[in-house]
Amino acid sequence: MSMQGTPILILKEGTERTKGKDALANNIAAARAIAESIRTALGPRGLDKMLTDSFGDVTITNDGATILKEMDVSHPVAKFIVELAKSQDDEVGDGTTTVVVLAGELLKLAEVQIADNIHPTVIVEGYRLAAEEAQKYLNKIAKTVAPDDRDTLKKIALTAMGSKVVSTSGELLSNVVVDAVLAVADGHEVDLDDIKVEKKAGGSLEDTNLIEGILLDKEFVHTDMSTDIEDAKIALVEEALEISKTELDAELSINTPDQIKLFMDRESEMIREMVDTVVKSGANTLLCSKGIDDVAQHLLAKAGVSAVRRIKKSDMEKLSKATGAKLVSRLSDLSASDLGTAGHVYQKTIADDKMIYVTDNPNAKSVTILIRGGTELVVDEADRAIHDALCVVRNVVQDGKIVTGGGAPEIAISNHLQIYANSLTGREQLAVKAFAEALEVIPRTLAENTGLDPIDIMTDLKKKSKNNTSVGIDPIGRKVFDFSDSNVIEPASVKRQAISAAAEAAQMILRIDDVISAKDLGGSGGGGGGPPGGPGGDDDFD
Ligand code: ADP
Ligand code: MG
Repeated sequence: MSMQGTPILILKEGTERTKGKDALANNIAAARAIAESIRTALGPRGLDKMLTDSFGDVTITNDGATILKEMDVSHPVAKFIVELAKSQDDEVGDGTTTVVVLAGELLKLAEVQIADNIHPTVIVEGYRLAAEEAQKYLNKIAKTVAPDDRDTLKKIALTAMGSKVVSTSGELLSNVVVDAVLAVADGHEVDLDDIKVEKKAGGSLEDTNLIEGILLDKEFVHTDMSTDIEDAKIALVEEALEISKTELDAELSINTPDQIKLFMDRESEMIREMVDTVVKSGANTLLCSKGIDDVAQHLLAKAGVSAVRRIKKSDMEKLSKATGAKLVSRLSDLSASDLGTAGHVYQKTIADDKMIYVTDNPNAKSVTILIRGGTELVVDEADRAIHDALCVVRNVVQDGKIVTGGGAPEIAISNHLQIYANSLTGREQLAVKAFAEALEVIPRTLAENTGLDPIDIMTDLKKKSKNNTSVGIDPIGRKVFDFSDSNVIEPASVKRQAISAAAEAAQMILRIDDVISAKDLGGSGGGGGGPPGGPGGDDDFD
């Protein structure tokens, strides 16, 4: 680097820096590479991806967010696109492939405009205007649905799961999902934390079922404990009922038999005190997130307290909400006022494993979906499908707005933006038109993924969608189709989020004209971008 002029930045040796058009072209290439890699997964005819992580674990999925999560990308913009899918997943739980494919297309068309000497800031402004108008129009074409319209909610769940491997059990799974959401819903309000999802490989997908209450993949710690408790008084304790070695070591060193006895006495005395605290509180059920030692187990059993140990933190929170019990982090603080209740707590065997049911919870409605399936792979993909379906059903109960599938809203908004662009006079007009064109990527990809010729079918689609906002691509029937009366419906919120997030991501990337990346010192295997001093740009993303 030359030292003339005023140095503004001092970079460490080995730092890479690309500026201006090069940086932009590079970033767009990275984003597009990611979008291209998951494009073939879009829609019910999308292909699944088989992924292996560095530990050799295999995942088979069609889920955009999952595919991207498992991909090991190093380019900062590629990472940003992966984040985009993740935030779509966090916000609305579906549409992760859509958001990435759309962002890639917006950038691809931006590149064309840049080649035509349109300045990136003009494109950014045009995209902003277009995204805003798109939202307005989306709200207009969305239909309203009641929060307890079970029939429609089921269709929403089915559409979301339609592209997953498990869709053959869609009928059963969508019923389970809708029942779960309606069980915990209060008008328009749904907290998905009230729905626990537990997985147990074995049996078949068709054995997946909904359980009232909270199911724990645990058993009572001692065989003398009651496994069937009516009117449970529940203590939720986050401290171990054991004496850590170091705690005692610090107090005495053992040399003689007397000292050993002293040691044992002291230890059991401390354990006894702990158990006494539980008993005195009035609890008959102890649910503990840490360990419970043998002596404590024995004493608890004798005192008529049934206990479970090492419960997951997330489950402890759910238990607290459902039973009204306070999470007690220091056992010595436990008192009667911390206890919660449940009408019935019991243990039952499923697939050779014992599980504990905490049911008839007074404080919050809570349910558990128990996912079954032949192999771990199936159970995991079912888990992802159920996650998507729970999210979309929740979205619709909360928001009450739906659109049809098959890329219908995308092409409808595209048509509208073309008209809107004509009302603009500034230089942004072209960018708005590009935005409109970019939206076509969704129906076009659905067509391509089912083997249709994109040019013919898009011509047909554009014609038929002019006066009908429910017309899209039917990848199953392999034709342009009016989805007005069909079962393929999606939450408007998924589209809303996908369009605004893709637009924002594209704008953000277009504003970058300087990339400074510190050299990777870790030398983590694979990738790495070639020999030092090599061209910084073209990392590979596959
Ligand atoms: P994403 O991760 O974006 O949700 P999907 O693979 O789930 O990607 O595909 C979603 C797209 O597929 C949406 O545009 C949706 O409308 C469309 N789609 C899903 N099922 C059908 C169907 N049966 N007919 C037409 N389009 C469908
Ligand atoms: Mg989906």
